[in-house]
Amino acid sequence: MDWTWTDAGGVMRVEHHFEGGIGRPYRTEGDAVTFDLAEGGGVMHVRISGYGAPLRITLLVGGKQENMLMGQGLIVSRDGYHYEPVALEKEADGRLSVVMDDPGEALWAATRYPYGASALAGLAMHVAGGHAAGVRLLRKDRRTVPVFEFGHDDGHKMVHYFIGGEDAWETAGCITADAMARLLASNGTPACEMLDHSVIRVIPLLSAYSASQPGSSYTTMEGESIYGAATWGDLDPPPEYSLVRDEITGLIKAKRLGLMLTLHSWQGGNPNSVIETIRSAGHRRLEGHRREWAATVLETLIRGVPKGHAEFPEKIWHPGLARDYLLAEYGAITFRAEVTTHGQGRKGFYETARVFLANVTKVADWKPVCP
Ligand SMILES: [Zn+2]
Repeated sequence: MDWTWTDAGGVMRVEHHFEGGIGRPYRTEGDAVTFDLAEGGGVMHVRISGYGAPLRITLLVGGKQENMLMGQGLIVSRDGYHYEPVALEKEADGRLSVVMDDPGEALWAATRYPYGASALAGLAMHVAGGHAAGVRLLRKDRRTVPVFEFGHDDGHKMVHYFIGGEDAWETAGCITADAMARLLASNGTPACEMLDHSVIRVIPLLSAYSASQPGSSYTTMEGESIYGAATWGDLDPPPEYSLVRDEITGLIKAKRLGLMLTLHSWQGGNPNSVIETIRSAGHRRLEGHRREWAATVLETLIRGVPKGHAEFPEKIWHPGLARDYLLAEYGAITFRAEVTTHGQGRKGFYETARVFLANVTKVADWKPVCP
């Protein structure tokens, strides 16, 4: 497909220069618009206006995108803030469409629930002055990582982490982390009772910069789209990873790391929300007490999570991910969750946040995280 990103000259307008806006090649024909997502990762977030009703939106998709989008739907909004999924229909292989009978005056359409820098700013305003709350800004090379911190760090307490947005477009994880910060700030979760003896840090979006770019995971300082989550073991990881890795490894050396849960999303590619850690990495293998502890923690954390499912595989599926690096190098047990967008939207993400936080309080001892 050799369409260019250009206004086709018709009445319909397609715009993407807003926060989190990401365009794709498209063409318009009457009250129909077709976007080409088949190349380059498939992230799209546009505003469409100047059409009549009904409005037909067609997506040309490739590979796994079709399965993911059929499970999730197209994410639409009439105000650019409140997004809901609408089901897509498969017209042919690689060709999905939806007809909006009542599209309103303008429609925002996205392939993932938008979450970017303005969402972080909104969260900072909400959390400011909240229960036991603070916000820190990690900075390196003009990239920033806002850390929402709950409880007073006296230099000795156990520290728990929830980290969203390692893959910038996996925003169901970001929205889950955002909801966790709101629950903690409003004293609306039993996890607040842990704050006397521990600190909870929430990073809803690891690289806000990457969330504004077409790449699905991470955009480097050179502008390359890479799989950022797999850079934990790099000699010199990209700035945001380097900043967070320093915090985590410092806490492991001090034997102060509690739960570290990265929050991802396969979007609609899998109907389950999955929590997982691994049994072995490098020359390390979890045995005996720590292995039993990890299995119990997986079951405890996922209990009651909508569509929740636990996995405990032998090895990592891709080298260089946090739990592979941190187990191989430091012997630390860390966890990852995939929050599904299959058949659930914001309500499901909020419930996932609520249940995960409540379940953290049911783990009596976090000391087995560090060897
Ligand atoms: Zn991911």
